[in-house]
Amino acid sequence: MGRETLETEKELRSLQRKTDEKYMKEALKQAKKAYALEETPIGCVIVRDNRIIARGYNRRNTDKSPLAHAEIAAIKRASKKTGDWRLEDCTLYVTLEPCQMCAGAIVQARMKRVVVGCMNPKAGCAGSVLNLLQMEAFNHQAALTTGILEEECSQMMKQFFKELREKKTLRPKQPKETE
Ligand SMILES: [Zn+2]
Repeated sequence: MGRETLETEKELRSLQRKTDEKYMKEALKQAKKAYALEETPIGCVIVRDNRIIARGYNRRNTDKSPLAHAEIAAIKRASKKTGDWRLEDCTLYVTLEPCQMCAGAIVQARMKRVVVGCMNPKAGCAGSVLNLLQMEAFNHQAALTTGILEEECSQMMKQFFKELREKKTLRPKQPKETE
């Protein structure tokens, strides 16, 4: 490979990284909305042709629904907006590695690419527990990039759980039931 080709590839990679960071920042903004509702701070945006076409954030407790994950909300909006359940030309940005439900929905939507902030070792299905996004046996695989703004994304989660623990400690103990 010629030197010029290598340089161009390097430039393209750094450009892609900058673009990924820009949209991950938007996903972090969505995560902050969840944080404000005392929900686990997870946010998501879907991008097509260099434009955000849908956003979503975790509302599991607020909506009292196990389906109310950031990615599902964004996928629903993106499909509504494009008038198509296929999101073939789209990239999904999410602050935390998707769970099995969301990874399943991403494959169902035939999403082109997924960009993840930080990993979720105990529940993630984009490489941690499983990699549902890239199972050869399925009819669709999504391209995957991980570790974009990883520090910011994981820091937000850590902060959230730290505050949650503090709140629990501060809360007065319930009187014990008499036995
Ligand atoms: Zn999920």
